[in-house]
Amino acid sequence: MAKKKGIVSLEGAVKTDAGLTYKGVVMEPVVEQCEGCERIVPFEDEQFCPTYAQPARKWAGGVCNFATHVRAEVDKAGKVKVNPLKASKRAARGR
Ligand code: SF4
Repeated sequence: MAKKKGIVSLEGAVKTDAGLTYKGVVMEPVVEQCEGCERIVPFEDEQFCPTYAQPARKWAGGVCNFATHVRAEVDKAGKVKVNPLKASKRAARGR
């Protein structure tokens, strides 16, 4: 089977009680906010992020800066706004 270059696989990952272990890193499953992100890699019946081992923690501080599906913006009040990329593109076109 030919392996496509650039596509991350979790080949060789091992499930342990602590989570999925891959190259010595314990990975936690992706969280709800990750849904739609292109970096998600499925492994068995769960989905993981090869970019960030603990997606929940990544999102706890605001928005994941590696996300491919949303972009974070800080509005005038200093609040972080999450924009789905498709919607923001559509808005820009309509202007
Ligand atoms: S890159 Fe960020 S948004 Fe995408 S799966 Fe990983 S943690 Fe989730």
